[in-house]
Amino acid sequence: MASKVMAVERVLHMNGGVGETSYANNSLIQRKVLMRVRPILEESIKKMYCTNASTCLKVADLGCSSGPNAFLVASNVIDIVNETSRRLKIETPTFQFFLNDLFGNDFNSIFQSLPEFYYTLKQDTTCLINAMPGTFYGTLFPSNSIHFFHSSYSLHWLSQVPDLLSKEAKLSDDDKGNIYVTSTSPPSYAKQFKEDFTLFLRSRSRELVPGGGMLLAFIGRYDTSQNITAAGLFRMILNDMVLENLIEETKLEHFNVPVYVATADEVKEIIKEEGSFSVERLESIETSWDGSSLDDKGYESFKDDNERGKFVARYLRAVFEPLLKAHFGEGIVEEVFLRFQNKVVQLLPKLVYPTLVISLTKIA
Ligand code: SAH
Repeated sequence: MASKVMAVERVLHMNGGVGETSYANNSLIQRKVLMRVRPILEESIKKMYCTNASTCLKVADLGCSSGPNAFLVASNVIDIVNETSRRLKIETPTFQFFLNDLFGNDFNSIFQSLPEFYYTLKQDTTCLINAMPGTFYGTLFPSNSIHFFHSSYSLHWLSQVPDLLSKEAKLSDDDKGNIYVTSTSPPSYAKQFKEDFTLFLRSRSRELVPGGGMLLAFIGRYDTSQNITAAGLFRMILNDMVLENLIEETKLEHFNVPVYVATADEVKEIIKEEGSFSVERLESIETSWDGSSLDDKGYESFKDDNERGKFVARYLRAVFEPLLKAHFGEGIVEEVFLRFQNKVVQLLPKLVYPTLVISLTKIA
């Protein structure tokens, strides 16, 4: 029955536009990750480009969302390739970029910023930006057509919520208020992740040219039972609100966030089993929810813990608000994020997770 399974590809989108609660204005953490990962991007682009120098380089960013990060990826790739071309004394290629995201993504905002982006490019750079709406769990491009895939902070999103009405997946009363991912993530989530990630790898390997490369970064979890996730925190907060009669219990039982955070070993195993890619590099970058672990001055840039909590609640609102609104209605949103901010302040030192960064080459 289709209605049991939430149609993630129709509901999921980040907050659009350029307003105060938009993703465009609240994606600093993701931006810091992009900057931190840049040396690995450099290494993998160079490797791909040295075996695949082409007059038109085709690159796709999967799960681009809207806002400045979508263009940061393109300008990073252009800089790296132009630099490499100069070093190899070959002509710089034309770039064709495909920006992919789900159907509800605010592609219009991206299009409106295009003139500004084109303006920043050096005169001798030809770069053509295309949009490619659709799910990356399946075919997006013709076979043998793309040189390089990039995807940042998107692959922890599942294609669908597993059938949680099944007995196995139903949360026990103990689990409802539990913030640790192991208890809030039933086994069917791991199974769904494996299916999705395998399909992702298979689709990309078909679409890549021989020797094509891929750089993936997404949220993972440590191999302990102490991982706190945003989904876990939401569940705890929503459960409190059920106890206070602010939300109906049955509503909460049917609310499940389509996110799975895998361990590095789980990811490695799936790549090996699928068999189309060799792993050039797999790193875990420790990432604190407030981003302070990603650069030197992050921690001091907040006045106090309250500021820090507010910052975290704001950027997670840009990501999760549409899902919460679609399920519970608009009325509860302010209250949920106020409570979220307070929980973050209490839990701050424990709020860390690994960002998994994986560089892959298609096996010829
Ligand atoms: N890469 C950007 C955005 C990350 S937000 C950055 O680093 O800032 C994650 C994005 O992945 C969201 O916009 C979401 O809509 C998209 N996404 C999630 N599942 C997807 C899928 N199956 N296919 C395409 N995009 C997806």
